[in-house]
This record gives sequence, structure tokens and C-alpha cells, in this order.
Amino acid sequence: MPTISRLANRLTKINPSSTLAITSKAKKLKAEGHDVVNFAAGETDFDTPGFIKDAAIEAIKSGFTRYTPTTGTQELKKLISEKFNKDNSLNYEPNQIVVSCGAKHCIFNTLLALINSGDEVLIPSPFWVSYPEMVNLCEGTPRFIKTDPKNNFKMTIGDLEKSISPKTKLLIVNSPSNPTGCVYNAEELKAIAKICVKNNIFVISDEIYEKLTYDNLKHVSIASFGKDIYDLTITVNGVSKSHAMTGWRIGYLGGPSDIVSAISNLQDHSTSNPASISQKAAQAALSAPDEFSNKLLLEFQKRRDYIAERLKRIKLLGFILPQGAFYLFSDISKTKLDSLTFARRILDEISVAVIPGEGFGRDDYVRISFATSTEQIKKGMDRIEGWLDKL
Ligand code: PMP
Ligand code: GLU
Repeated sequence: MPTISRLANRLTKINPSSTLAITSKAKKLKAEGHDVVNFAAGETDFDTPGFIKDAAIEAIKSGFTRYTPTTGTQELKKLISEKFNKDNSLNYEPNQIVVSCGAKHCIFNTLLALINSGDEVLIPSPFWVSYPEMVNLCEGTPRFIKTDPKNNFKMTIGDLEKSISPKTKLLIVNSPSNPTGCVYNAEELKAIAKICVKNNIFVISDEIYEKLTYDNLKHVSIASFGKDIYDLTITVNGVSKSHAMTGWRIGYLGGPSDIVSAISNLQDHSTSNPASISQKAAQAALSAPDEFSNKLLLEFQKRRDYIAERLKRIKLLGFILPQGAFYLFSDISKTKLDSLTFARRILDEISVAVIPGEGFGRDDYVRISFATSTEQIKKGMDRIEGWLDKL
């Protein structure tokens, strides 16, 4: 009898998400009463603002609890369209927008819609852990573009050009970046756009950390540099980070009509609409002034400055000042430990959780999230400093 494998081949290559695994281990230890400092979290420590929660409660009370159109309600898509226009100089009509269960879902949908078996997807490295796994799930081939810390971990045009092959279909741009915090400026993005247009390469622009750029740096959307790059770009964003709404699962994308319509068909037959209640909450978030994300930005800039001051004193750890997002990618090579050992040891020995750099493409780094209070940052840095003194 022919043997039928238990698992589908596509899943045998997939690793669990190191960000989610360590974050939940840290949360579990904390719930059990351990005094864990959590530098692993990929979400802010702020609570979702009250007016957003109220909108969700009102949605439940008024019976807004049924299916909505697959790609989201017209009201929400209209607000997203206005947001793209106002913040990003991008003109996406509501019918060019798909609302999904988080930005993660938007990225996965886009890859499923565009990638054929064997197509190459360019991913600047270090990268967010889920990109290559999603490409693998779509039977594409991730091609990493190695970047240099001396260039703030940003790919150069030379790096990009060298990585292009006849099989290259798509490039993922993530600015501000998780895990490095690098932010591409307008000039750099314009040059990247030019190469993509010349070589007919699609772009997923993951702009989930858009609202968190420090030192008055301005976030720019790559699709805003003219019709040619607009026609090749799918712009992804969401409310998870901007409005402390990670658990509500609302992300959205804007893109060319043919791709959006394919994604809409895909979503019709996979998840249908994201939760109706969360959509009402996102509507409240997007119709309010930017007050909340401005408050977040000010607080995070203070934390970034504080953690950077502390790290400067620690000889065994290197770092580049993050320009955006809420992560600091720290060079641990002087400790002579690999990132998994470093992360496991500090969790076991001093109850500090960080994410090993291995999953982001650099085993000589760890990711330290400063999306936690200054008090916790101080406590965690004291512990790391003391631990390294004895190493
Ligand atoms: N992109 C990046 C770079 C991220 O760090 C994350 C994690 N939040 C996401 C996308 C997904 O965000 P969401 O919660 O909207 O799915
Ligand atoms: N994106 C966040 C992180 O990098 C949340 C966890 C995840 O979805 O990977 O930690």
C-alpha cells in the first residue's frame, strides 16, 4: 500500500514563530508569579483607548454581529481610503482596499495571490520572522539580501540589483523595520522603486510601524513615487501598533484593482470578513485625530533614549540607535554566545525575555523590545548589566 504522509509537505518546512513562542513563554512565567522583565513583546504595553472599546461594545449591543462584506464594511474602507490619502499621499479607492485579520493576514493573502511555485521573493535581512515562512508556504523561494549594520541595516541599490534574477517576482520592504528599527528615507525608496519598475518586480510595503518614527523622521510610502511603482505595490498597514489593538486583528491593504480583486476572492473562500465588532472598533480608531499614536510616539522616544543610554555603558553589547518601531537589535557577538543560548540563559538565570536574532537572520544579535515601561526597562537593564559582568 502506498504510504500517505500525515502532514502536508508544505508544513514540514515551517518553523514555529520565535516571536510568538518566547512572548507567550514570558507571559506564562509572569502569570505563574515569576518576576519576568519582558523585552520580547511585539506589542505596546498601552491598553486600547476607551473610545475604541466603547465603539466595540456599542457594536455588540446594537447587534452589529453578523457577516459583513468579505473585504470589510464600506464605512471602514472609506476611512482607510482617506487615511492613505492624508498620511501617505496614496489614492486607493475603497474598492482597492481589503480589510483582513491583521497586517500578517494581508501579507499572507498578497503572497498567496502573487507567488507561483519557484518564484523568488527578495527579503532584506535581518527580516521579520514570518516573511520567509509565508513565502515557503506559498512555495516561493525566499532570497535574502544581506544588509550591513554600518548602513543602518538598510539595503543599498547595489545589494538589491545583485539579488535580482529572472525568477524574481517580489520584494518585501518593511520601513520602519522589525527588528532593526531602520527607516528608509524618500531618496532611498525612490531609488528602490526605480529598480523595481525597471525589472517589473512587485513590492509588498509593510508599513505597520508607520506612526513610530523618531527624531522627526518622516515615514514615506514607496507607492507614492508615481504610477509605475503604484501599479506594482501592495501597501500594508493596520491598527495593531498605531492604536494598541494587536488582539482585535484588523489590518488592511491597498493595491491595484486586479490584485485586490484576487485577494478578495481568496478571502471569500478562506476567512470571510474580519470580525464585525473589531471593524467598528477600527472605524473609531481611524476617525479620531492622531492623538493616541502621538502620545505613544513621545513615550517610545523617551524609552528608546533611555535604553540606548543604558546600552552605551555595556561593553559586551553593541547596537544601532533605532530610527523607528519599538525594537533595538543588539549585537551580542562579544559575549561569544549564540542568540538562542543568550536568550535561554538570561530567561532562566535572570528572568529577562528577549528574542534570539536567529529567527530574524542574525544569530549574533538579539531583539530587545522597549514596548514596556521605563521602570521595567531599568530593572531589565540592571539585570543584564549585572549578568554580563559575571559572564
Ligand atoms: N509586520 C511586521 C513587521 C510586524 O512586526 C507585525 C507584528 N505585529 C506584523 C506585520 C503583523 O501585525 P498584525 O498584528 O497587524 O497582524
Ligand atoms: N510582530 C510582533 C513581533 O515581531 C508580534 C508577534 C508576531 O506576530 O510575530 O514580535
